[in-house]
Amino acid sequence: MHTIAHWVDGKSFGGTSEASAPVTNPATGVVTGQVALANAADVRVAVEAAAAAFPAWRDTSLTRRVQVLFRFRELLNERKEELAAIITAEHGKVLSDALGEVTRGLEVVEFACGIPHLLKGGFTENASTKVDIFSIRQPLGPVAIISPFNFPAMVPMWFFPLAIASGNTVVIKPSEKDPSATLWVARLWAEAGLPAGVFNVVQGDKVAVDELLDNPSIKAVSFVGSTPIARYVYQRGTAAGKRVQALGGAKNHMVVLPDADLDLAADAAVNAGFGSAGERCMAVSVVVAVGEVADALVERIAQRAGTIRTGDGTRGTDMGPLVTREHRDRVASYVAAGETQGARVVLDGRDVRADGESDGFWLGPTILDHVRPEMSVYTDEIFGPVLSVVRLDGYDEALALINANPYGNGTAIFTNDGGAARRFHNEVEVGMVGINVPIPVPMAYYSFGGWKASLFGDSHAHGVDGVQFFTRTKAVTSRWLDPSHGGLNLGFPQNN
Ligand code: NAD
Repeated sequence: MHTIAHWVDGKSFGGTSEASAPVTNPATGVVTGQVALANAADVRVAVEAAAAAFPAWRDTSLTRRVQVLFRFRELLNERKEELAAIITAEHGKVLSDALGEVTRGLEVVEFACGIPHLLKGGFTENASTKVDIFSIRQPLGPVAIISPFNFPAMVPMWFFPLAIASGNTVVIKPSEKDPSATLWVARLWAEAGLPAGVFNVVQGDKVAVDELLDNPSIKAVSFVGSTPIARYVYQRGTAAGKRVQALGGAKNHMVVLPDADLDLAADAAVNAGFGSAGERCMAVSVVVAVGEVADALVERIAQRAGTIRTGDGTRGTDMGPLVTREHRDRVASYVAAGETQGARVVLDGRDVRADGESDGFWLGPTILDHVRPEMSVYTDEIFGPVLSVVRLDGYDEALALINANPYGNGTAIFTNDGGAARRFHNEVEVGMVGINVPIPVPMAYYSFGGWKASLFGDSHAHGVDGVQFFTRTKAVTSRWLDPSHGGLNLGFPQNN
């Protein structure tokens, strides 16, 4: 059986823990490997490697750091198909989607290649007579990244390019469901010339996470996952004195106003609802049909969703399996619950005939109409190919529904009315807003992050927020020429 180990100090590391977990190809149901589950001692070995590598990496010139980043960017771009294949084999998303995820991660690497500009500080000459002040941004030290199963390449890349470019060292703990992508990335960094110990990988579960949260050498934690774990990571990490950004779950609404282009809206709802089998934190899970559009919109969405080919992601299908059998069954149970609670099942993915092995974790596109806010299919993050339609009378009701929702990751409005769109982006309490764009994932030079229960902490991922998260500011006040020998003065320093 293929063993998926840790990566510490520039090489594979087996660790001392006996524990491991199976890794499965979701399209076949076949166990393809056993991933090591680190104990606390294994994590400490990785953290010590990151701590040992920090002083030299911190002092490596920006020119040299950027050369390594450029080389990493080139290698990743040349070999992205390899990484996409690894993602499809462990996550299940179709190859084209896996490649899209790598490309979005690559954008952050490219953004980080501009780190010399992003790290520039300020300088004020003669703030007081012959006294200058300047500010610099310095790295924090070893930082931890803890990532979810649904974007095994892109989500870690929201963080590590900027962390490393800024002079930090990294210990990353991937999801135990699809751990191989991060190991592949570790080898690529080594090939790009990154010094040993700057990028370390520990495989594991809660045991590994808890050690990273408590270990005093770890100075900051970037977490992405479900809301209960994000809240826990934020509380425990900050209690240990660390800087923490913890991105959580989502329930994303797409509002369709009566004047919208219904074909555009239907395409968008299907793409954003069923892409990656709905296992995206920016997936649309609720379509809010306003006024008289509902019947025509649901008809158009159902017609399109009915043409989606579900199957093995290596066979040119549109939508792959869910990540595990348990998750597939959990998502299917929400469809049953919605039906029992009074929603109308317009399209039922439970009887899908997938183009793949019978043991794959299949669930086809599912549409539930007449969903009401008290139903579990609305209140819970389902994280599967289930699109709920809520019918409301007007814009104000739609806005109130979204703003009352505990999550605030992404949202979208479809309309041809610029005034309504402007009101929406101004009034909605959500971190990322699309206007006639269903999955408004910002480019790397803007920041990614939700509001409310979708993010704990003050910093969003990448963009300028990312640079600030991985550095701290130092302000230096300096006097060189003609120091005034004014004698003793115990008063608070004042400027003149
Ligand atoms: P998860 O919360 O189960 O796991 C995330 C990470 O936390 C994994 O590395 C896992 O090993 C670890 N973990 C799990 N249980 C833990 C525990 N009890 N204590 C400590 N660590 C623990 O999430 P997932 O199922 O891997 O990913 C899907 C979730 O991630 C969804 O809720 C989705 O919305 C969210 N997500 C959010 C964003 C965002 O940007 N907000 C992006 C991607 C995914």
